[in-house]
Amino acid sequence: MYEGVVQDLIDELGRLPGIGPKSAQRIAFHLLQAEAADVRRLAEVLLEVKARVKFCSTCFNVAEEDQCRICTDPRRDPTLLCVVEEYKDVVAIERTREFKGRYHVLGGAISPIDGIGPEQLHIRELLTRLADGTVGEVILATDPNLEGEATATYLTRMLNPLGLRVTRLASGLPVGGDLEYADEVTLGRAFVGRQAAT
Ligand SMILES: [Zn+2]
Repeated sequence: MYEGVVQDLIDELGRLPGIGPKSAQRIAFHLLQAEAADVRRLAEVLLEVKARVKFCSTCFNVAEEDQCRICTDPRRDPTLLCVVEEYKDVVAIERTREFKGRYHVLGGAISPIDGIGPEQLHIRELLTRLADGTVGEVILATDPNLEGEATATYLTRMLNPLGLRVTRLASGLPVGGDLEYADEVTLGRAFVGRQAAT
């Protein structure tokens, strides 16, 4: 245990995802030795991101305006909708340059152990978006792990009766992992080879 504010810093850093106690300590001591201007820049960008970045009112992607850049881009195909778990999956799919439609970010995946059911995700908003009939194909691009599979199965059952084309990414993605960790080529290929969800 360290004194007062140093321990507070270590505690706060330790609450970040993927940062264990050792990493938290290492980052804290790095910051203590860093130039004041560098630390100020980090503090400012943290505050700025919270103040400026919001979530798109249509797709729940991050946005600086009411709607994100993808939703407001008239060149994107409005008949294709790709459903992902998180904002970082949008980034991963955009990197492949294989997808020209729009997105819907669920905000997670169904996970009974973590108390996350369909009601905790943006599924109601997805159904509202589909109601006007513009979207012809929904691509389910959830993570290739247990929670992602459960979410895709749930959505398939819900969407197939609506008369839409419902597809899933082709296999070949590393099973058990996160979509964001798949390399661009593999993810791009999974996109091109997508198949009807049953
Ligand atoms: Zn959007």
